[in-house]
Amino acid sequence: MKVSIRSRAKQSSILLYRQHREGSASRGGFAGFIVALANTAAGASRSGADELSTVDQLARLLERYTFVGRVDGDEVELAQVRAARAQLRDVWTADRDDAAAMVNRMLREAPARPYLIRHDGSDWHVHATEPGAPLAERMRVDAALALMSVIRMDETGRLRVCAADDCAGLFADMSRNGSRRFCSVRCGNRVNMSACRARRLRG
Ligand SMILES: [Zn+2]
Ligand SMILES: [Zn+2]
Repeated sequence: MKVSIRSRAKQSSILLYRQHREGSASRGGFAGFIVALANTAAGASRSGADELSTVDQLARLLERYTFVGRVDGDEVELAQVRAARAQLRDVWTADRDDAAAMVNRMLREAPARPYLIRHDGSDWHVHATEPGAPLAERMRVDAALALMSVIRMDETGRLRVCAADDCAGLFADMSRNGSRRFCSVRCGNRVNMSACRARRLRG
């Protein structure tokens, strides 16, 4: 039993991390990008504020995760990316069946048409939108492709929300036994410290 959990976790992390070459330029692959985007939201970000409220902040996010193709750098694009962020947060926290329906809807509405491509020195990988499609649409479809694998492998349980009461951070739990509870070491330490203080006050 242990072995099968381990090998499945290993397989799914490969799918998550290799789905998209662009995403894997930064640590965490495409799941890493979904998390980075989702965690710009108020209550989830490091500052606590919405860290995707200006065109400049979007440009900074794009510096960390290169997207091949069109970038308008305007308010319309920002609003569309913010909408994609909300949608992806919803899929992340949905149960498996709902997540499947949401992913299907995102692919249908794009519309996504998967094809193999090799570019900028990368090996064959899947794109499902044209480079001229709006940035938010390309983000949504790439995220949907990565999430498809997670749903298919029955690994949606690894798409988690931080257990800290004051944090809405998302993370993909890639630990072997699936026991990770916090989005960051910072949240883990904060919760442990306040639990410790509460114990001292009681004792
Ligand atoms: Zn690519
Ligand atoms: Zn957290």
